[in-house]
Amino acid sequence: MSGGNEDPTSVAVALRVRPLVQSEVDRGCLIAVERTSPGAPQVIVNRSEMFTFNHVFDVDATQREIYESCVLAKQRKLLQGYNVTILAYGQTGSGKTFTMGTSYNGVMDESAGVIPRAVDDIFREIGERQEEYSFSVTCSFVELYQEQFFDLFSPGKITVDIKEVNKRVVMPGLTELAVKSAQEVTDYLMRGSSGRAVAATAMNETSSRSHAIFTLTLVATKKDSKAVTTSRFNLVDLAGSERCSKTLASGDRFKEGVNINKGLLALGNVINALGATNAPGYIPYRQSKLTRLLQDSLGGNSITLMIACVSPADYNVAETVSTLRYADRAL
Ligand code: ADP
Ligand code: MG
Repeated sequence: MSGGNEDPTSVAVALRVRPLVQSEVDRGCLIAVERTSPGAPQVIVNRSEMFTFNHVFDVDATQREIYESCVLAKQRKLLQGYNVTILAYGQTGSGKTFTMGTSYNGVMDESAGVIPRAVDDIFREIGERQEEYSFSVTCSFVELYQEQFFDLFSPGKITVDIKEVNKRVVMPGLTELAVKSAQEVTDYLMRGSSGRAVAATAMNETSSRSHAIFTLTLVATKKDSKAVTTSRFNLVDLAGSERCSKTLASGDRFKEGVNINKGLLALGNVINALGATNAPGYIPYRQSKLTRLLQDSLGGNSITLMIACVSPADYNVAETVSTLRYADRAL
């Protein structure tokens, strides 16, 4: 992959269709999402509605294939000073956490997702440039739940605020851990992700109702000129996009749904505004905390990839179509 023809302001969209899971097989589900022709980045749902994206990965795509064919070229721009954001979007159970590798288990095997693979490569690249640059790398990990940020690296999972100082988004008090190796980062990742809020829903017992945002910040100082470049790499495992009705939401759970949708709705609006051909100039970042946090990394000097995750099952077709439509707005 060269990635040389990337438009730095654009949002790319990859679709990943996971295999049927056991519960869908047990229910007798049929496949409702198919590629129109081998290799084409296009799918047809229920043999009626067609969608085209930058990349389409179907049931047999491996974690490595996804990482190498659509993440790697973008991530390489980090060392050129771009901010890079990878987002996983989709209904609960569609494969967001699996794809991102947010709940990495410490074993770098075929099942390892985007985060551990990316971290490995970033440290390898840094290692190769030590002569020319000195690097400082930090990482942070926050969860956004009911429009509140929680610092997953703080001992008590404390809440943190978001502010704008000199046009830059900052989170005073957020734990930024200095890291020197890939191993160190993934150790912290595992520690942080064990503290994520989870609640049982009718759809998926371990469904996560929160957004998880893992960020690596790289500061590269050129040894001769002392020029400093800062870049951010955001890896975002978004909350489930399903409508509240389908999860039999009620009470508190319903409130969560409303707030979650607020972040996803705002994200959709921002991405849509960024992609508009006659750019509106005004990008509605302030509509949610999710878009405020990502403000410096969506649009401008940044590169964004959304990985839309869907189930192939006929049972989920309504949610799948709503995910595909959402992702389609980004293009
Ligand atoms: P989400 O984070 O969107 O709720 P998960 O990533 O937890 O979904 O995936 C739901 C289930 O499906 C998990 O058991 C996961 O291991 C499995 N799964 C998801 N994507 C794949 C895939 N591409 N190949 C095999 N299993 C998958
Ligand atoms: Mg998940």
